[in-house]
Amino acid sequence: MNVPAETFTEPSTDRAAAIARCRFCDLPLTATFVDLGMSPLCESFVPPERANAMEPFFPLHVRVCDGCKLVQLQAYVAPEEIFTEYAYFSSYSTSWVEHARRYVEAMIERLALSPESFVVELASNDGYLLKHFLGTGIRILGVEPAKNVALVAEELGIPTLTEFFGVELARQIAGEHGHADLIAGNNVLAQVPDLNDFVGGVAVLLAPDGTATFEFPHLLRLMDEIQYDTIYHEHFSYFSLLTTMQIARSHRLEVYDVEELPTHGGSLRVYLCQAGSHEPRPAVEALLQRELEAGLDGEDAYADFGEKVDESKRALLELLIELRRAGEQVVGYGAPGKGNTLLNYCGIRTDFLDYTVDRNPYKHGLFLPGTRIPIYPTERIAEAQPDYILVLPWNLIDEISAQLAYTAEWGAKLIVPIPTARVVEPGA
Ligand SMILES: [Zn+2]
Repeated sequence: MNVPAETFTEPSTDRAAAIARCRFCDLPLTATFVDLGMSPLCESFVPPERANAMEPFFPLHVRVCDGCKLVQLQAYVAPEEIFTEYAYFSSYSTSWVEHARRYVEAMIERLALSPESFVVELASNDGYLLKHFLGTGIRILGVEPAKNVALVAEELGIPTLTEFFGVELARQIAGEHGHADLIAGNNVLAQVPDLNDFVGGVAVLLAPDGTATFEFPHLLRLMDEIQYDTIYHEHFSYFSLLTTMQIARSHRLEVYDVEELPTHGGSLRVYLCQAGSHEPRPAVEALLQRELEAGLDGEDAYADFGEKVDESKRALLELLIELRRAGEQVVGYGAPGKGNTLLNYCGIRTDFLDYTVDRNPYKHGLFLPGTRIPIYPTERIAEAQPDYILVLPWNLIDEISAQLAYTAEWGAKLIVPIPTARVVEPGA
């Protein structure tokens, strides 16, 4: 049979790819970083009354820009849909609140903040960070589009604007309150669909000698430690220092210092200023060199990431299959966004995990999106005494392992899924 050769060319199933453009430099996006298939929104927990309803799934196809090397996901879903009613209350993580407290202390000292200073936090959530400024006399303002969490901050006495940040809002804030001596943004940069408008807004709002700090998971760590589960629809961009410096520069800002933090599996805190206003610290050049050595300015480092992710999935499934075949009871711990990427991508449902537990009462009685695994209070573990506990927020493994030390009484073990599934003793 004579079949024309063009029959075998790949059909253009990915029409979005043909039109997708880099959210920073506008080049067409052609190179794949990793394709995690279709997944529901990771914070869209399913209430029992919707248990029989359909759920929308969206592609988790991450691309890397050939030009600026920004690793990114298209905004398949309008940010208004994701962020206006948000189930994530930062204050439920004790270690995260403590991290925020130490940050505030450090900034007050380092930047010599006084009652004349003005501090703005972008994505201020429930006030977990700004509340540590209360009582110092320093003027504070939160910007948080999710109304339900912003309300909690307001109740604490933290003035909060429930809007999305950009150039226009920056002008408005600067006009009403003056320029900011400190702009803080923790885990917000990744969630910004219009990156240039957001960073442009920072340039507008920042005082001439002010400092803006941003914390975000470090792409180098994501790649080194195969942290593919930190990819979800709410995270549009995945930053290296290299791309951050380019983005800052294009808005006449400059990265003048950088710190590596253990949070979220390895984050960066970058310090930005108006270009030329601060002397760059050596840490910036040192980290940039490490990224260049890892090949983050080339193509190969990005091209082989997908295969590493597939292999990590195979290893986790192998372990779970082996345990379930042996009749072991396996349950989950935590219901973080990252857990939902992992479970959906790996196809782990109640056939592997009977249920998961979480400390956030807001999630109790709900089901995980996509996999429909039920979420219970943490007390369930002491009652049911499962054999294995899959720790979904593996980035908090030390904290969680200590909390679960009591499970050693009946010989339970913990499973850490990333980078390659491994079994550890609780409390160790
Ligand atoms: Zn680009």
